[in-house]
Amino acid sequence: MLSSPIPTAAAAAAQDGEKACVYSCIGYGDCVEACKFDAMTMNDKGLPVVFYDACVGCGACARACPRNIIEMHPIEHKIFNYCRNRDKGAVARKICTVSCIACGLCVKDCAAEDGIAMMDNLAVVNYDKCLQNDQPTKRCPTECLRFGEEEKMTKEAYYSSLPEKAV
Ligand code: SF4
Repeated sequence: MLSSPIPTAAAAAAQDGEKACVYSCIGYGDCVEACKFDAMTMNDKGLPVVFYDACVGCGACARACPRNIIEMHPIEHKIFNYCRNRDKGAVARKICTVSCIACGLCVKDCAAEDGIAMMDNLAVVNYDKCLQNDQPTKRCPTECLRFGEEEKMTKEAYYSSLPEKAV
């Protein structure tokens, strides 16, 4: 099963030009250096971009990330919480408009029992039980929970300026 890296928490770092969230990408590019396949680069916001055509799913980028915010996912996964902030909602919201605020709407809206769980103020998808549809994402107030093709969503949502190779 081919896996690909998902740079979670990049959205938080993309905001306001600041990296105030301690759960977000710090932009040092350790992941890019670790990739032996030239499948990652940093964009003009100092955030990692994955070239999915070049990625072999080895996971070196995820192991190199000092904040453990790059996750490896099978390509079958279609729903992701892009936030890793575990602060209470009010605290998270002060520094980021796309943070998970632990409102629990996705948990209520998920048709699968335990398909999504709240863990330390963060909505966590249980891929063993998740039905892989967009229902839990529809009322997410900050749109940190998203459904779709990860490669496409990442480009559309978080990378305003992409290196030519990734477009
Ligand atoms: S609906 Fe969105 S903000 Fe609310 S708990 Fe779920 S992922 Fe977090």
